Amino acid sequence: MIDYNNVLCQRIKDIPPSGIRKYFDILAEMDDAISLGIGEPDYPTPWHIRDAGIYSLEKGFTKYTPNAGLSDLRRAIAGYLKRRFGLEYAPIGQILVTVGGSEGLDLAFRCMLEPGDEVIIPTPSFVCYGPLVSLYHGVPVYVETKAENDFRLTPEELRAAITPRTKLLVLPYPNNPTGGIMGREDLEAIADVLRGTDIMVVSDEIYAELTYGQRHVSLANIPDMYERTVVVNGFSKAFSMTGWRMGYLCGPAELVKAMTKLHQYGIMSAPTTSQYAAIEAMENGDLDIERMRQDYDGRRRYLLDGFRTLGLECFEPKGAFYMFPCIRTTGLTSEQFCDRFLQEQRVAVIPGSAFGPGGEGFVRACYAASMQDLGEALDRLERFLKSLR
Ligand code: PMP
Repeated sequence: MIDYNNVLCQRIKDIPPSGIRKYFDILAEMDDAISLGIGEPDYPTPWHIRDAGIYSLEKGFTKYTPNAGLSDLRRAIAGYLKRRFGLEYAPIGQILVTVGGSEGLDLAFRCMLEPGDEVIIPTPSFVCYGPLVSLYHGVPVYVETKAENDFRLTPEELRAAITPRTKLLVLPYPNNPTGGIMGREDLEAIADVLRGTDIMVVSDEIYAELTYGQRHVSLANIPDMYERTVVVNGFSKAFSMTGWRMGYLCGPAELVKAMTKLHQYGIMSAPTTSQYAAIEAMENGDLDIERMRQDYDGRRRYLLDGFRTLGLECFEPKGAFYMFPCIRTTGLTSEQFCDRFLQEQRVAVIPGSAFGPGGEGFVRACYAASMQDLGEALDRLERFLKSLR
């Protein structure tokens, strides 16, 4: 008998499973449940984008692509980034097409971390940063952002977290799970702290297209920040393409070259069909983005109003598609709240504590769901809150 516990390396045993997973497992067994749990658009990918993927198959484009991605796709990404965010990246050399934003994050950490390097991670934030950093021998340094600061990272908080060992800052805005964003002035204050240090930044801009009220600004667009920033982005959220597994990263050519080397050994090239669909998204997808964004905005206002009417304190999210209400008045921990809400009312939301320090006392509800589901979820929430009194 092989003892697989001895086979697995210690590092993988040490990283905890995602706090999100458990709810999906329970949910999968329930027929009548409403899920505001998973962070995924509820639309199918726009038809013309799907069609471009299908057409590429019809034409027989079923082989590997260049490691860094189809050059037409990289050109399309460069054009899109310039048009939408004023970012300038050379299609050949500064852009790498990845398997989702997830691979981009993985590559960035793997290519830059030496054992013991510290990585500053503002929290609450997406669940993968800390475990990946640990896996690659880095040390996550969590910085708790505050509701009273609209969950932005303040220059003071950043300065206090920096040590001689700081190698990287993760900038997770627009933020999952809080919906917080960082505007130009906020980023300029962060840049003032970073200027003159050797700290690099991994800017996770996967929700860049989903902001309500003001356009997203990339840190790479702030003076002196371009050369220290790796921008991670993708198609999952803006184009409702989670299953296509399409993302990209861009940054200084030397870094992208190293990341392409690793990508070449670990992945070879991102899925070919998805790359053809992605060209169509980059070139002709602006209207889809706007249509979905406006829809999300309507749902955002509806759910925010609903939570507040029911007496839950809730920060108005300005980006992504999550609401992060405070549930402390219920007297439950965020995990107790989520367990009971799911068991008793069959609605899935995620405990804020799954997103790192600062998340306890909150829950994450994804509003990329139908208005009907959101309405029903609010009715069930009302019943649940009454039952607690
Ligand atoms: N970053 C953030 C903040 C996310 O929320 C997600 C998905 N939930 C990702 C990256 C990864 O997305 P994908 O790999 O589908 O591009």
